[in-house]
Amino acid sequence: MKNISLSDKEWHHLPTDEIIHLLTSDRKKGLVKEEAERRFHRFGANVLTAKQGQNVWIRFLMQFHQPLIYILIAAGVVTAALQEWVDSGVIFGVILVNAIIGFIQESKAESALAALANTMVAEATVLRNGEKKRIPSTELVPGDIVLLQAGDKVPADLRLLTIRNLQVDESALTGESIPVEKRVEKLAQDTALAERINMAYASSMVTYGQGIGIVTATGDHTEVGRISRLISSAQDLATPLTRKIAHFSHILLYAILLLAAITVAVGLLWGQSLFDMFMAAVALAVGAIPEGLPAAVTITLAIGVSRMAKRRAIIRKLPAVETLGSTTVICSDKTGTLTENQMTVQAIIAGDVHYEVSGVGYAPFGQIVRQEGAEDKYSTALNECLRAGILCNDSLLLEKDNNWQVQGDPTEGALFVSAAKNGFNRKETVTQNPRLDSIPFESQHQYMATLHDTGTDRPRTVYIKGAVEQIVAKCAVAMDEDGNTKTLQSDTIHREVSRMAARGLRVLAFACVRLPARTMTIDHADVASGLTFLGLQGMIDPPRAEVVVAVKTCRKAGIKIKMITGDHPITAAAIAGQIGISTDTIDKTGKGIVLTGAMLEKLSDDELTMAAEETNVFARATPEQKIRLVRALQTNGHVVAMTGDGVNDAPALKQANIGVAMGITGTDVSKEAADMVLTDDNFSSIEAAVEEGRGVFDNLTKFIVWTLPTNLGEGLVILTAIFLGITLPILPVQILWINMTTAGFLGLMLAFEPKEPGIMQRQPRHPDIPILTRELITRIFLVGTLLLIGAFGLFELELAKGASLEQARTVAVNTFVIMELFYLFNCRSLTKSIFQLGVFTNMWVFGGVSVMLFIQLIYTYLPTMNRLFHSAPIGAGSWAQIGVAGLAAYVIVEVEKKLRNNR
Ligand code: ADP
Ligand code: MG
Repeated sequence: MKNISLSDKEWHHLPTDEIIHLLTSDRKKGLVKEEAERRFHRFGANVLTAKQGQNVWIRFLMQFHQPLIYILIAAGVVTAALQEWVDSGVIFGVILVNAIIGFIQESKAESALAALANTMVAEATVLRNGEKKRIPSTELVPGDIVLLQAGDKVPADLRLLTIRNLQVDESALTGESIPVEKRVEKLAQDTALAERINMAYASSMVTYGQGIGIVTATGDHTEVGRISRLISSAQDLATPLTRKIAHFSHILLYAILLLAAITVAVGLLWGQSLFDMFMAAVALAVGAIPEGLPAAVTITLAIGVSRMAKRRAIIRKLPAVETLGSTTVICSDKTGTLTENQMTVQAIIAGDVHYEVSGVGYAPFGQIVRQEGAEDKYSTALNECLRAGILCNDSLLLEKDNNWQVQGDPTEGALFVSAAKNGFNRKETVTQNPRLDSIPFESQHQYMATLHDTGTDRPRTVYIKGAVEQIVAKCAVAMDEDGNTKTLQSDTIHREVSRMAARGLRVLAFACVRLPARTMTIDHADVASGLTFLGLQGMIDPPRAEVVVAVKTCRKAGIKIKMITGDHPITAAAIAGQIGISTDTIDKTGKGIVLTGAMLEKLSDDELTMAAEETNVFARATPEQKIRLVRALQTNGHVVAMTGDGVNDAPALKQANIGVAMGITGTDVSKEAADMVLTDDNFSSIEAAVEEGRGVFDNLTKFIVWTLPTNLGEGLVILTAIFLGITLPILPVQILWINMTTAGFLGLMLAFEPKEPGIMQRQPRHPDIPILTRELITRIFLVGTLLLIGAFGLFELELAKGASLEQARTVAVNTFVIMELFYLFNCRSLTKSIFQLGVFTNMWVFGGVSVMLFIQLIYTYLPTMNRLFHSAPIGAGSWAQIGVAGLAAYVIVEVEKKLRNNR
């Protein structure tokens, strides 16, 4: 390539030939490998340099922008005003530590999500060395010829060379969500960016049609690369739960302010000094605030994300981690998600003759055997049907070490195999009938057509394959065994299709039509009628074995499963029966258990709301109907997970509570719209993610139930002391010490709690049910009271024994810590005892407990700590009493659990 500066070229203003010349490329062949490598070195990888999103400092400062932190700051200021420098220092220290932890945690969660998103490398289809190739989008260089089709994300800035109904959604770039219809003609020099319809810009999405373009800019040189605000990959980390916690914080803020005011008032009435009362108010405020809560929630969610990733579900949006556990309905595609997507043609009908095909998998070995004992005879219809399968095909069949694999659509791969079994050679067939044009398969049309040159000045042939209803409706006549035309018996065909479908076969119909010589392009109108019916090919696609188990598990977990497929109703019903989605006996016509797209179309929204509840199988459904279905289910109060892979599935994926895209077969558009991507396209991975989601929610609940009694207990201790007019058993700094250390070393260990056995035998948690049920609130108050009694009681006991105030307070602090420590074992399960769970199933707890005990010894015995925290060494007798208090609390909570379980 000439040494030109690429960035200031006005590509939209140049004719395409000149651009190809400027970029020294080739329309038909693309770049040669060596040149592509050279350019890769010169221009670098096609990636956007991650620019810092929001300013780091602003993000850090935002950590202080929380109501409860305001209280802490106020408390810090008050203590500073009282010249209690140590207390003030500790309070500000805690605020700072909190902000740092929050900041690190958020950044980590964000980058973890971003890293996961990157594990799904985007690919692009390019011409290199004259061959069509899939390469990672990062390897694109200026001059590359890129092929676009519906569902692709545009991988770099492209000047379009040829298009076919190309429509591109440029909302990521322009904010305009209506797709733009593209053109190839050159435009005026001063055309604004948004109106350059002969360009396709990186990060936009192809929503319709196809196109070929030449790369004009990559990486940071693309238009999107210039708009730095778009690069900030900042994730929204707010989830329903964190929002609830934020709301709770606001209420708590007012409660604390009120209680602090009462404290001061009551204290003054009792004749206490203003100084003491301010300190008491500060103690109350810092005690009642659950400082560790926000960080613990983020950490627990982050652990959930990585657990799900291990089970092949990549979370793209954090709230999904939480919502997954409440899923009540999973709407799943059939082909590839519930089934293996390993297609093998087993039955063919052509020229009214039935054939059985032997052989398994994609290895092209086996035989096509004529049924009904009729003598073997050369059949033109059979061969035309097989030829159509080879020519009307966008996939490839490859062999590697005796291992046959399909590159592309397995449905199409199977057609090469069946043709080979009758002696067809793919290469030969394709060279003899070069393809001139095609209409690609799209789920809303349900067919594909290709135009072929069968010899100069001979009529052109169009081969069409697709869903039987679509094809047969377009046919006028049929081909008989000898290649002559005969009348089309559509009733017979549909009867045969039903019979094949009842075996679970996926049936494709084939047809052809002749067009005048020299025709160069085809359109939907060219194949709308007058076709010649060639035959049917029926292929098995066995259900995935693990799906049968996953479906059972979902059933037990109170999760309904709906199959939504573009396939034939009877095929859908047969597969649904095999998988256990519909347990009803299958009616031959599929009636009663299957709702087809056509039937669905006739239902009003209200009727659909009812039907959606009762029906488990939806066939011949279009993507538009998927979104109606999601809405109908949501009207019934369901939390819906919906799978999708095509471009048109994006709206349904967004509407669903959890949009699930397919990592292998899914389009870029669907992945972008989804909350979660399955790396193996497998239904059982959704089930696994739901299971993990339930575990995450359990652990969050456990942490909250564990942490709140501490705050409650501390608040109660302060209030009691004030109302009784006695010395505070714990000081503000001591309260902060308890809160910070126990949250980090004890409570957080609950985030590592494994899923409880039987987690998939419960009903889904309704998302509207508050996280703290009446039972749990009762427990929180019970434990808060126990802490009050324990800490206050032992404090007074210690004083009565003649200990110093410092010693008595040290006993009170240790009582809090040790009781929380015992209570941690209660909280490992909300309903079971640790002996039912297995004492050693969460070793993190023991690690945390050991560290906690160690630092409590330091707190109690190290002179520096004694000075800082007003603590003092205590004797073995005091420890024994504290231990008894902890054990007693543990036993009481277990008894409460038991009583509740028995009820
Ligand atoms: P699903 O993925 O839910 O099984 P599809 O939308 O892929 O359904 O397919 C719907 C129907 O379209 C199939 O039953 C088949 O008849 C037809 N079909 C599927 N793939 C192709 C293809 N590549 N070319 C032509 N027709 C196809
Ligand atoms: Mg499909």
